[in-house]
Amino acid sequence: MLVSDEYIIERVEIDERELDRDPAGVQLRYNQTEPGIIRDGVDGIAVIDESDEQYRVDFWGYAFGRLYVKSEGVEEIGQKLTSNDGEIPSWILDSETVNADDPPWWVPESVAIEPTVTCNNCTETVSAQEGLTPRNLPPSIDGPVVCQTCWDRQ
Ligand SMILES: [Zn+2]
Repeated sequence: MLVSDEYIIERVEIDERELDRDPAGVQLRYNQTEPGIIRDGVDGIAVIDESDEQYRVDFWGYAFGRLYVKSEGVEEIGQKLTSNDGEIPSWILDSETVNADDPPWWVPESVAIEPTVTCNNCTETVSAQEGLTPRNLPPSIDGPVVCQTCWDRQ
């Protein structure tokens, strides 16, 4: 469930092809950190301001569609950014769609616009999007997070 029913103004049936490939608004991306796992949820969400009372939300992935929601619904979407699947944020803002100096009101203050993680193998700090938490890491690696480069070398 993307947004609680009580905050949904309208649910629009839409063909996947009708969704813009590059929608306007601020976008969130699901951050898949386990290589080889196929997820059946939503991979991307775009929040488009229509007015103070109404926002358009396009979402895509295995599930897709369009919602018109109240501001409380957008606040719920913002809360996803603080959901943390262990070491790495599960949802990340697409930094190209957001002004880091003036993020939207619904992004919680504690959220980094471009979060980073530290690789437990090479100790490099990388973008959270490059951080992986594979299930079967070799025991020589002292922690759950590896960067893409180290993983590719396995
Ligand atoms: Zn590394």
